[in-house]
Amino acid sequence: MSKATKPHRRTPSDIALRAEIITTAQRMNSSGLTPGKSGNVSARTEGGMLITPTGMPYGELKPSDIVTVRMDGTAMAGQRVPSSEWRFHLAIYRARRDVQAIVHTHSLNATALACIHRTIPAFHYMVAVTGGDRILCAPYATYGTETLAKNVVRALGQRRACLIANHGAVAVGDTLRKAYDLAWEVETLASQYARARQLGRPRLLSAREMNQVLEKFKTYGKQTPVKL
Ligand code: 13P
Ligand code: ZN
Repeated sequence: MSKATKPHRRTPSDIALRAEIITTAQRMNSSGLTPGKSGNVSARTEGGMLITPTGMPYGELKPSDIVTVRMDGTAMAGQRVPSSEWRFHLAIYRARRDVQAIVHTHSLNATALACIHRTIPAFHYMVAVTGGDRILCAPYATYGTETLAKNVVRALGQRRACLIANHGAVAVGDTLRKAYDLAWEVETLASQYARARQLGRPRLLSAREMNQVLEKFKTYGKQTPVKL
């Protein structure tokens, strides 16, 4: 990453986003979603992204520790070193205009499945919350590399979550809250799938059935006034 010399001027929205990134990262620890200083969090900004710094305990983060990285991969001068996974965060924002926030975790069951390179198939209709009929596992590459960034973008496709082989999981959303909630959904699905496999061979839902669920999810939870 090359360093640009121009200092970064903070806008009110930039300050609010830094606070929200810290809240999300700290919630990842307090809720037990990801252990210790694993995972990372980012949000899109006008010219790039804001991302958690590398290796800093989430509980100690201050707004000034959150790092600005431009869309071309350069960083503002005088900042913390960004998360080692800044490449895959940036690659996702480049590939997906709809993504505003990214949460990466090493959550227990999602990581366990990722360690056996397993796709989570349509074993439960809730798999559709990730925007597809399965959750793919990106092939292994060393953390922080351009190869890993390419693998993650490919496994994500137009969906909102994927696993990363021998590593963890990624969830994206149009807000930090949605990306965080989805990371929990992925963890829950992973634990349910692992349990079902212990009991036998899960019966998978058909592509037709999953398409129906995907269609229903377009309006699920939308509170429009109902005429009784
Ligand atoms: P960072 O502390 O550099 O964000 O790394 C954590 C991680 O999960 C790497 O994949
Ligand atoms: Zn990681």
